[in-house]
Amino acid sequence: MDKIVVDKSRCIGCGLCVMNHPDYLVFDDNGQADAIDKEVSPEDKKAIIDTVGNCPGEALKIEDIKTNEE
Ligand code: SF4
Repeated sequence: MDKIVVDKSRCIGCGLCVMNHPDYLVFDDNGQADAIDKEVSPEDKKAIIDTVGNCPGEALKIEDIKTNEE
């Protein structure tokens, strides 16, 4: 299943991803983005890929995370 992953060592806390996708990302206590643990829906995927490409820190990616059942 596809999930958003944030590389905290690269996130500069600009807020772009949190503003565009509040259902998927929140700020942590340090003002960096935190990905909510949920699957990216097919309807949202294109917009999220755009945001991944626009992240100024190149801190975002979508990863195909395997579940234990697979
Ligand atoms: S868009 Fe990138 S740099 Fe900006 S808050 Fe999100 S992960 Fe951090």
